[in-house]
Formats: sequence, structure tokens, C-alpha cells
Amino acid sequence: IEEKEELNKLVRSVEDFPEKGVIFRDITTALKDKKGLEIIIKDFTDRYKNKGIDYVVGADARGFIFGAAIAYNIGAGFVPARKPGKLPAEVESVEYSLEYGKNSIEIHKDAFEKNSKILIVDDLLATGGTAEAMVKLVEKLGAKVYELAFMIELVDLKARDLLKGYKVYTQLKY
Ligand code: IMP
Repeated sequence: IEEKEELNKLVRSVEDFPEKGVIFRDITTALKDKKGLEIIIKDFTDRYKNKGIDYVVGADARGFIFGAAIAYNIGAGFVPARKPGKLPAEVESVEYSLEYGKNSIEIHKDAFEKNSKILIVDDLLATGGTAEAMVKLVEKLGAKVYELAFMIELVDLKARDLLKGYKVYTQLKY
């Protein structure tokens, strides 16, 4: 609890970014702080070690920061879910809606063995649209979602409703 309070203080809130009326939660101030980075990674590592997780899937781009560190610590592999056109080999892709327009994410078709146990990681859970797309992509590839993990959850946006049936873990709630 004390560590979560310490971590909470390290997140910078920037008003009117990326547009007027939005409060952007900036995690770079927590990441650059060596105690902050340690709190984040240690908490995830303690939660996910010895759970038989085969792969950690990180969402482009901030999910990579936590994802690779967690994967290394728990002895799993790391798989990036990338924005379109970045991965060189054959991909599976899922499209999802944003507030304005559409986006899609891709994972290499041969990333997982069938029924692999997957932890999905990103920095922040807002509407849950990105996370839902990640779940669909993992399942399309024949793997199983063990849990979804985020540093920050924007509670009012009710992403947990969208992700009903899946376990969701978040370190800080706003
Ligand atoms: P969602 O799909 O609406 O849940 O949005 C989550 C995605 O948007 C994540 O990949 C986040 O990195 C990004 N995002 C949305 N709001 C914020 C914010 O306040 N700070 C940092 N990232 C954000």
C-alpha cells in the first residue's frame, strides 16, 4: 500500500493532452525514477512468477517497456503486438474502433504454440478497446489469456465491463 502511494505520486497528470479537456496520465516520470520502476516491475513479477505463463504480450508501444521486463523476470518469452505494417513475417490482425476512426494491431502468426498461456500487458487501461483487441488476437492464434495487467486503470471508463470473463489486474486506479 505504501509503495502504491509512492508510485501514485510519481505519475504526472498533464491537462489538455492530447486535446482540450483530457487529463493525460504520464508514466515517464515514474519510469525514470529508479524506485518507481522497481516498484512497478517487482509488483508484476511477484504476481506472475510461477504461474506457468508461456508468453507475455506487450501492446505497442508502452506495453513493451513493462512486458519485456516482466517476461524476463518470470522466465517467459516476450511477444510484441504491433501497429500495422511493422512486423515482417506473416501476421494475424484485429481491427478496433477508436474515438475517432479505426486502428488495428498485429501479431506474428507463428508467435505461440497452441494453448499457450498468455499474460497481456499495457501501461494504461482506458476504454478497454485496445485490450479487447489484444484478447481477440491472442485467441485467434489459438492461445489462452491468463490475465491482463496494467499499471493504471481509468475506472470511470468501465473497461472491466468490456473485458467481462477475463481477469484484470491494475496497480493504480484513477
Ligand atoms: P483504451 O483502448 O481506450 O483502453 O486506451 C488504452 C490505450 O491508450 C493504451 O495503449 C494507452 O497507452 C493509451 N492511453 C489512453 N489514455 C492514456 C493516458 O492518459 N496516458 C497514457 N496512455 C493513455
